[in-house]
Amino acid sequence: MNQAQQTHAKTPVAPVGNGLAKGWSPMHGNGHRAQVLPHDPYDSTLVANVHPTDWTNPEPAPRYNLVVIGAGTAGLVTAAGAAGLGAKVALVERHLMGGDCLNVGCVPSKCVIRSSRVVGEIRDAECFGIRVRGDVEIDFPAVMERMRRLRAGISHHDSARRFHEELGVDVFLGDGRFSGSDTIEVGGKTLRFKRAVIASGARAAHPNIPGLAEAGFLTNETVFTLTERPRRLAVIGGGPIGCELAQAFRRLGCEVALLHNANHILNREDADAAEIVQQTFMREGVQLILNADVRRVERTAEGKVLHFESAGKADTLTVDDILVGAGRAPNVEGLNLEAVGVQYDKKRGVAVNDQLQTTNTRIYAAGDICMDYKFTHAADFAARIVIQNTLFRGKKKLSALTMPWCTYTDPEIAHVGLYERDAQAKGIAIDTFTIPMSQVDRAIIDGEEDGFVKIHVKKGTDQILGATIVARHAGEMISEITLAMVGKLGLKTLASVIHPYPTQAEAIRKVGDAYNRTRLTPFVKSAFQHWLSWTR
Ligand SMILES: Cc1cc2nc3c(=O)[nH]c(=O)nc-3n(C[C@H](O)[C@H](O)[C@H](O)COP(=O)(O)OP(=O)(O)OC[C@H]3O[C@@H](n4cnc5c(N)ncnc54)[C@H](O)[C@@H]3O)c2cc1C
Repeated sequence: MNQAQQTHAKTPVAPVGNGLAKGWSPMHGNGHRAQVLPHDPYDSTLVANVHPTDWTNPEPAPRYNLVVIGAGTAGLVTAAGAAGLGAKVALVERHLMGGDCLNVGCVPSKCVIRSSRVVGEIRDAECFGIRVRGDVEIDFPAVMERMRRLRAGISHHDSARRFHEELGVDVFLGDGRFSGSDTIEVGGKTLRFKRAVIASGARAAHPNIPGLAEAGFLTNETVFTLTERPRRLAVIGGGPIGCELAQAFRRLGCEVALLHNANHILNREDADAAEIVQQTFMREGVQLILNADVRRVERTAEGKVLHFESAGKADTLTVDDILVGAGRAPNVEGLNLEAVGVQYDKKRGVAVNDQLQTTNTRIYAAGDICMDYKFTHAADFAARIVIQNTLFRGKKKLSALTMPWCTYTDPEIAHVGLYERDAQAKGIAIDTFTIPMSQVDRAIIDGEEDGFVKIHVKKGTDQILGATIVARHAGEMISEITLAMVGKLGLKTLASVIHPYPTQAEAIRKVGDAYNRTRLTPFVKSAFQHWLSWTR
């Protein structure tokens, strides 16, 4: 993202659970009680940037090239990019500009994960010859305060004033809804559009478990408001969000149980990759309850009791808080989509074609509201497609993007392109080359040998079709392979890229070397031997 497009909410549910204080809630909204907590100077800065309470919506222009609903990554990038090209743009946000990523997603979670990694380092310090005497005290309130400070510091990128004053976007705070074939209503004002973009995102799905709502639970929309550490935490959901936060809270000193409804955590990733993270979780004392079916929850004097079945056996677990990370629900409600002929599904979101156009040809969508890839960078690049397709009658396609992603557990799992199972399903024959991190000097030096780099190529060629990396900084390493795929560089080229020694990314070059070795067929080797003996 460039500076103009650099961006970093959803509608938090009412606060529940321990350690939550009273805080700010916006004047706008559609009945949800949004909360920014604990309302310290950092949160005040955040709110002043992303939902200033003294904001006055501007007088609408007679007609906009684009009206964008939702100021998360997808909406911000669409609005900033389009305005930068000279379009007249209105951006409508009902809660916090910056959306999930800045307020209740990537930014706060990665801040907390960073602190938890420090604990991991200290825990393992003795392996490096460093003895830490006495207890290591984890100051949970300070960890959360650091997160709020950093989040507030980043928030000016997404601020209403910056978008209005610097980028020339008309920012409207309030609930946006379609009111006619070319109009959107917000706060009693009517915005007329040539094209509209739905970028209303998604929120945490609430599982239908009897007693859960009554007992109270946290989601990503409330967990970052905690100021006290829950002693015992149950995390429901072993996908990326659940796993990242389960490991972080465990390292920060909580007793954590992770309940997942499959026989493996992170089961969308390759089993060998997920297994490494699963083993790490077990070593670190995360209690894994797999094949779990949570039947009901009750609140007792001892805590919140989860009644579940796992591997056919009924059991209970008593905790202080429950964090739900069990999927995402698209924000389709209240937009009046029916009135404008935009088809949607309450689970899958707004239906779009490959050009991100909805069933109403004047209305497009981008980001979590319509895409399987629920990532900030995916929302960002979808927004760029929407700008071209709405303003310049472009025909850019989502399917043309090469989309990497990363789960920020320790070690991280990063992936791009096809998995082996995808190749099988598509009938594509592949060769797979893998280098374990235990064969990479820098990983050995760093004590970070758990992991591998695995690259799939089209059989008999060096054309890269996909890759998975498990490593401490896999998210940093995957970009080299993504670049190769985007630039159509083969594995042979990666083998010829000189990497500084010692680096963990050398593993990628070593995968290239492994590919090159397969080109040394017995015939070629014997030809070499003959030549060398003749020239001796
Ligand atoms: C805990 C967590 C960690 C994550 N970590 C990562 C990560 O590390 N890397 C990564 O790439 N992705 C991560 N994600 C995913 C990432 O946050 C989302 O993919 C991204 O925020 C999607 O952006 P968006 O613009 O589509 O939607 P959102 O960010 O959800 O923004 C949508 C906006 O629309 C507003 N809105 C909704 N309806 C209306 C309406 N009717 N009127 C006006 N405004 C409306 C909402 O208030 C919201 O601000 C994480 C998500 C979570 C929950």
